[in-house]
Amino acid sequence: MSNPTLQNKLAILADAAKYDASCASSGTGKRNSIGGQGIGSTEGSGICHSYAPDGRCISLLKILLTNFCTYDCLYCVNRVSSNVPRARFTVDEVVGLTLDFYRRNCIEGLFLSSGIIQNPDYTMEQVVEVARRLREDHDFRGYIHLKTIPDASPELLARAGLYADRLSINIELPTQSSLQALAPEKDGPAIRRSMARLRGHIDDAKGAAQDQSRTSIISLPQSRRAGRSVAPLFAPAGQSTQMIVGADATDDRTILGASASLYGDFKMRRVYYSAFSPIPDASARLPLKAPPLMREHRLYQADWLIRFYGFTHDEIDPKLAWALSHRAQFPVDLNRAPREMLLRVPGLGVRAVVRILEARRVRDVRASDLLRLHVPLAKVWPFVLLPDHHPGATLEADNLATRLRPAPAQADLFDEPQVAQPLAAVKVPALKPPQRTLA
Ligand code: SF4
Repeated sequence: MSNPTLQNKLAILADAAKYDASCASSGTGKRNSIGGQGIGSTEGSGICHSYAPDGRCISLLKILLTNFCTYDCLYCVNRVSSNVPRARFTVDEVVGLTLDFYRRNCIEGLFLSSGIIQNPDYTMEQVVEVARRLREDHDFRGYIHLKTIPDASPELLARAGLYADRLSINIELPTQSSLQALAPEKDGPAIRRSMARLRGHIDDAKGAAQDQSRTSIISLPQSRRAGRSVAPLFAPAGQSTQMIVGADATDDRTILGASASLYGDFKMRRVYYSAFSPIPDASARLPLKAPPLMREHRLYQADWLIRFYGFTHDEIDPKLAWALSHRAQFPVDLNRAPREMLLRVPGLGVRAVVRILEARRVRDVRASDLLRLHVPLAKVWPFVLLPDHHPGATLEADNLATRLRPAPAQADLFDEPQVAQPLAAVKVPALKPPQRTLA
């Protein structure tokens, strides 16, 4: 590439795109061969890998159209308040780069995302135009993944699916409260509405293709190869999304619950987890900690169990598995045990442990305190000791694991809205009288 301006833009906009997880690998060290030492590098940017429907690993040019953005999502390096160098490609430049890299056999497709310039529709129009020109003007048959902007008009989302193999809309954070706190311009319900629209288009296109293949004497691929009129494809590689992990206090259970609902409600092909990295130029309101790569890795493992082994997100609980195989270390005296041991108790999260430690400085923690902390009592009960509770022989029961794991249940036939159970209706297990004096 002889154009230095274009090269600078590519360096900025490929680097800015690397935080978007379109592939599920992470966590290697930095290595390079600068100075003639060795061969290869793990530090390059611009080309990433993804999986084609037939399982092949394909390389994609992964860039942003621009890293300018009018939004201020605190976890994002491209937010308006971030002090990073900015750049913007024209539509022609992205089209030219894609074709150029493709002809040189460096890539097999394009992954294109963008910060929001002017407004969501203006940005989305340019993103769609890149894909349209590649497909219609240059007959580009490589893979295209477009990151779509949830606030863009439904018409633009519908057009994007005609050119892209895969569309994705980032959910970003698993709860509406986290979104409000860290990405105030983003609208959780609007994101879900756009996902539902994409699902509708994908289902319609698949249904039309199936109808056509039923009534045609030759197969759909043969019809396409023969240039016959066939039902238009819509994002044949489906939709995916991404969640940031570690920027807020959401625990893994909530994250996996959100993923389960995304897979169920919108037929997501993938939910990607991206460990929050506070560099460069992190917001002072976010934790200045190394990216939680091991946590990200564990979430991918749990996600795999949900998608391919039929586990529900409620069943995946490594703490419970550890506690059941180390029963001799329980029950844990909540008024005496060190913090590390409190954290091992199934059902007690970091926040609950902090509250217990604070409370026990001034008085004994009792069963009613756990009730106020909204911890899942049925799960905590067999593993803890309190002045007014002792689990007795529960811990030794052979069927304890079965009792604590949710019973398998078939999905409802209808998408009925889930109504949260009021706290007053939650049945609290009967307290056993204290069997030991703890004073
Ligand atoms: S809208 Fe996207 S690019 Fe802009 S700050 Fe938020 S996450 Fe970053």
